[in-house]
Amino acid sequence: MKKIGPHVSASGGVQNAPVNAMAVGASAFALFTKNQRQWFSTPLQQNEIEQFREKVAESGIGNRYILPHDSYLINLGSPDTEGLEKSRQSFIDEMHRCEQLGLTMLNFHPGSHLRQITPEVCMDRIAESINMALERTSSVTAVIENTAGQGSNIGFAFWQIRRIIDGVNDKSRVGVCIDTCHTYTAGYDIKNDYESVWEDFDKEIGMSYLRAIHLNDSKKELGSRVDRHDSIGKGFLGLDFFRKIMQDHALDDIPFILETPDESLWADEIELLHRLED
Ligand SMILES: [Zn+2]
Ligand SMILES: [Zn+2]
Repeated sequence: MKKIGPHVSASGGVQNAPVNAMAVGASAFALFTKNQRQWFSTPLQQNEIEQFREKVAESGIGNRYILPHDSYLINLGSPDTEGLEKSRQSFIDEMHRCEQLGLTMLNFHPGSHLRQITPEVCMDRIAESINMALERTSSVTAVIENTAGQGSNIGFAFWQIRRIIDGVNDKSRVGVCIDTCHTYTAGYDIKNDYESVWEDFDKEIGMSYLRAIHLNDSKKELGSRVDRHDSIGKGFLGLDFFRKIMQDHALDDIPFILETPDESLWADEIELLHRLED
């Protein structure tokens, strides 16, 4: 059985995230380890850390199926010196928080050039930011998420992710998260050309870098470059696509994270996805 779960709330403390995951029958989950709309938060308290670890142990969910997501403010490819510095500090702080919680990955959107620098300069800056974060931490893998390519967001094309990885010194601590909605709206027809999209991914990036899947349906069309998630089976990707990906054994051992918009459906979505497995 694949490991599946939603991006759960950690409001009231990180220790609530595994509890919220258990409540919907999850075997994987994502969370923010701090307020996602702030640059910095108060450091994690020892009792929060202990409770988080206890609850995770109770849930039976292995650490490698837990995928923290960084703050939306962070832009590791920022064209602006001050913004870049703040982003790097905040990202390193998030990596430390993951380490304190015993988590091994930090998922992030690569960054945006804001039309002030070239995409290439932006990508190289992102790689440099990752290098700085990896040098200052010891056990967390930086997991680059592919984007829909909305606005000036980098990372919608596989070659862009490859270029960022090429600039990272420690390749053992960089990975990729594929968001199914982003893949589709970025222009990869993962619905009708499922196998060839994964072949492209393998050729341009490499399957060995794949660490996680964000499993979302899409409210927008192929190639629209718009990031609007939909509930499983309700958008343009549709149930046949989800059956295909659930039965793909190449993806058996990585977490499938739901970032679907209707929280009240999560338990049903997880059940439905497991049914599609056989
Ligand atoms: Zn995502
Ligand atoms: Zn998204």
